[in-house]
Amino acid sequence: MNNRTEKVPGKKPVTSTPHISTDTPVQFLKGVGPARARLLEKLGVKTLEDLLYFFPWRYEDRKNLTEINNLSHGSQATVMGEVTSIRIVVTPRRRMKIFQLGLSDRTGSLTAKWFNQAYLKKYFKKEQKVLLSGVVRGNPYSGSGLEMENPDFEILDSDDTPVHMSRIIPVYNATEGISPKQLRTLLFNTVQIHAARFRDYLPEEILQRNGLRPLQWAIREAHFPDEIQNIHDLNAGASEAHRRLIFDEFFMLELGLALMKKQDVAQKGISFQQKGTLVNSFLDSLPFQLTGAQKRVLQEIREDMEKDIPMNRMVHGDVGCGKTVVALTAMLTAAENNYQSCLMAPTELLAEQHYINIHKLVEALGLHVVLLTASVRERPIEDIASGKSQIIIGTHAIIQEEVKFKNLGLAIIDEQHRFGVMQRADMKRKGLNPDILIMTATPIPRTLALTLYGDLDVSIIDELPAGRRPVRTKVYFPAQKDRVIELIGGELSKGRQAYIVYPLIEESEKLDLKSALDGYEAFKKIFSDKKVGLVHGRMNHREREEVMALFKSGDIDLLVSTTVIEVGIDVPNASLMLIVHAERFGLAQLHQLRGRIGRGTHDSYCLLMGYPPFSEEGKKRLKAMELTCDGFRIAEEDLAIRGPGDFFGTRQSGIPELKIANIVRDVRVLEVARRDAFSLIEKDPSLKNYPLLRNRLTEKWMGMLELIKS
Ligand code: ADP
Ligand code: MG
Repeated sequence: MNNRTEKVPGKKPVTSTPHISTDTPVQFLKGVGPARARLLEKLGVKTLEDLLYFFPWRYEDRKNLTEINNLSHGSQATVMGEVTSIRIVVTPRRRMKIFQLGLSDRTGSLTAKWFNQAYLKKYFKKEQKVLLSGVVRGNPYSGSGLEMENPDFEILDSDDTPVHMSRIIPVYNATEGISPKQLRTLLFNTVQIHAARFRDYLPEEILQRNGLRPLQWAIREAHFPDEIQNIHDLNAGASEAHRRLIFDEFFMLELGLALMKKQDVAQKGISFQQKGTLVNSFLDSLPFQLTGAQKRVLQEIREDMEKDIPMNRMVHGDVGCGKTVVALTAMLTAAENNYQSCLMAPTELLAEQHYINIHKLVEALGLHVVLLTASVRERPIEDIASGKSQIIIGTHAIIQEEVKFKNLGLAIIDEQHRFGVMQRADMKRKGLNPDILIMTATPIPRTLALTLYGDLDVSIIDELPAGRRPVRTKVYFPAQKDRVIELIGGELSKGRQAYIVYPLIEESEKLDLKSALDGYEAFKKIFSDKKVGLVHGRMNHREREEVMALFKSGDIDLLVSTTVIEVGIDVPNASLMLIVHAERFGLAQLHQLRGRIGRGTHDSYCLLMGYPPFSEEGKKRLKAMELTCDGFRIAEEDLAIRGPGDFFGTRQSGIPELKIANIVRDVRVLEVARRDAFSLIEKDPSLKNYPLLRNRLTEKWMGMLELIKS
């Protein structure tokens, strides 16, 4: 197939590129050279496959263009006409530059306006043919004049049909240096020449059962709809072509997960006995009763640990619901059985905090607990190898090559959203099929959790300890600074403590630090009779530990920090948090931060200092924070605001990227794909009867290769 010469009507036969396959770099394709390949890379397109899977974000119906005299106010329309005038107008008061284009067809004329985009002028010439697409308005100041504000435009050439005209056309997300139109031409040629390289890998019975169309057909139609003529379906991702492609993505995802789960179940794990010697005295020593949800989840974990197949369980629970106690109890069960256990946290600060808390709690039980992070000087490598250390707490330093365990029986990964499937696999290699427990505070709807982490069992702690009250959250503006300081002072004078969080400034860690440092100096002056502390990511761990210990013991009243405190810090007496530049934070992050307070029984306050102007999304995020403290509602809101695109960070998590499927919009397809994938693996665990599918799966799950070789 690779050496075939393909004929395209009206085009020269392609003979110069004999070895093209789906993973050929785009640079070697017709119409792409090194320069354009670099541009395409910015769009995430590196190979032929990437290009063919670079689908339009919307479609436009250019079969039936509207004539200008038939336009109606308020409607969305596409018109074609000739440029009659080009000018830049400056508004008298605000000195805003408006680029104005006059356009007419044989029936009438229209003005298009773009605000603050004077540079557009260079693209247009009089008498050019142009397509405009946007919402039609009437201009009250110019009689019957029709207008479009900031319409999409496309400049037409005389030989443009049929790629760009007279049909439903795809609109691609462009980037600087390559226009939507150029992309359309490129995709048109690429689909014509290369779509045939994809062999359909889905089993016939699955295609039939779900009424799915062939892969090549779906790729063609999703780019240049020919049979499909319903523009609404296309734009909603609900066409037959979309359904096939979406099904594929979910199916490959779930197939990989099903396989991992199958292989785990096939392996022999450790069967831990419930001795109770350590666990009971630990639970007795707690100053509180476990919540019902904590007890239920602990029971689920216990049952898993007793079985002789490895545990793979995820514990979900909103911030503050008490996951640490649950984790520690499991670790003690491992210790009772003379196995080592480890707890891996996403940041050094969090690992240090876990270490301090856990150390204190289990010291009395006579266990040896160590901390292992990149900045620990005398690394406890030998104690871990000899088995002297029973509980190891750290960051990803734990999964580095030189760390060897004597007998790792249980590995706990805290805050999973920062780690992925890959780290889980690394973790497994550190022991002999240790039990794995993943703890996460990213609250996602249960069905999604099940599907997205389909190889894991899921437990949910859906109850907060008694007496917790919602954190009162309110947005403040810089002009209200005095009020904010008054509120902080009020809490401090009641003996409470407070956090002040400065944002991460992406461009520069230095600036980031500087704003926190400036804040620290300012607050020291304002609250000169109080102890003010500072913690940030650039400190070494001794310094950080010292500051955190002082905050925890109440010797520091006010803690100024960068976002290093985002996860896991636990100081119940802290009742107020001020987040500076709150508009810059993501919603999930704001919720995590806020989770640091409201951990005691006092009323607590979260003050979100915002610096206008806010983006639309920024406004919505702050509003959502004011409205609710419920992690699940926050997560839903976050999905609604951001879209599900990078919600789960699939890119870094090691699971295949979803390019066209949308886990929220397409959840029904997801469920079907999951069911079919799991039952196929049940029937044929090594896919030996489906070699094409097997190859495709291996490609999709690149980094996980050794897991799916069987
Ligand atoms: P998270 O789930 O966010 O990791 P933590 O495990 O840090 O939550 O627990 C938050 C706080 O709640 C800690 O101070 C912890 O000691 C306390 N806590 C945990 N379980 C209970 C409970 N059942 N009753 C009262 N307080 C609890
Ligand atoms: Mg935690």
